[in-house]
Amino acid sequence: MPHQSITVAGVEVFPLCDAVGPMGDSIRRPLPEMFPGGCHGEPDEWVLHFHCYLLRDAAGRTVLVDTGIGPENSPAASWAPVPGVLGDELARVGVAPEKVDAVVITHLHSDHAGGAVIDGSPAFPNARYVLQRAEVDAAAEEVLDHVIRPLGERLQVVDGHSDVLPGIRALLAPGHTPGHQVVQVGDLVLTGDVVLHPVQLSDPRVTYLYDDDPELAATTRAELLDRVRAERGTIATAHFAEPFTRIL
Ligand SMILES: [Zn+2]
Ligand SMILES: [Zn+2]
Repeated sequence: MPHQSITVAGVEVFPLCDAVGPMGDSIRRPLPEMFPGGCHGEPDEWVLHFHCYLLRDAAGRTVLVDTGIGPENSPAASWAPVPGVLGDELARVGVAPEKVDAVVITHLHSDHAGGAVIDGSPAFPNARYVLQRAEVDAAAEEVLDHVIRPLGERLQVVDGHSDVLPGIRALLAPGHTPGHQVVQVGDLVLTGDVVLHPVQLSDPRVTYLYDDDPELAATTRAELLDRVRAERGTIATAHFAEPFTRIL
C-alpha cells in the first residue's frame, strides 16, 4: 500500500517508500543498545522503512529529498535491504528521473545517498545535487569516489541555510553527521536522520548508536522538534513506518 501524499503551502509532498526491512547483521543491535535510555517495552526488532520524498511546487518544479539505498551493488548492500525501489516509486507518481530539477541529500550515509549515482553517472541527469559543505568536507574517500566525484558539475555545495526553490529551504542540522541538513516547506520539516525512531519524539535526548556527535544531534533534534511543535507542524521522517507525524 503506497503512502499518501499531502499538500503543504502549495507544494505536494509524495512519500517514496524505497524499502522496508530490518538492518543487516553487520550493524544490527537490540533496540535498547541502538537508542540507550529509550525503547523500554518495545519489541527488540527494528523494522525500518526507507523513505525519500518528492516535492512538486505549483509551477511543476520538482525536488527529490534523498536518493535511497540504491541498486543491488550499492554501498548500502552490506546492511540495508537492496535493491531499493525508488525508481518504481517515482514512476508511480509520474516523475521520470530526467524531470527531477533538484536533489537534496540530507547526508551521505549509504541509505540516503546510495541512489544518487548509478553505474558511475548521476541518476538524475538534469538535477543539481544540494549538499552541505561540512558534509562534503567530512566525506570518506569511498564516498568521494562513489558519490561526490561522479556528480561533477551537478553538485551544488551550500553553507548553512539555502533556498532550493522559492518556499523550499535546506537547513543545516548537524550532529547525526557533520553536515546533515533538513528541508522545510511551510510548517513541514523533512527530518532525514535528525529523528530516527518514534522514541525520540517523547524524549529528544535519546541518542542513536550511530550518531556522529550524539550530544550535538540531541541538541539539534530538541531545537527542531520545539520549533515544529510551536507551529503545530508536521515532520516527514526517513525511517518511521508512517511518513508523516504531526507534532502537537
Ligand atoms: Zn514506507
Ligand atoms: Zn544516517
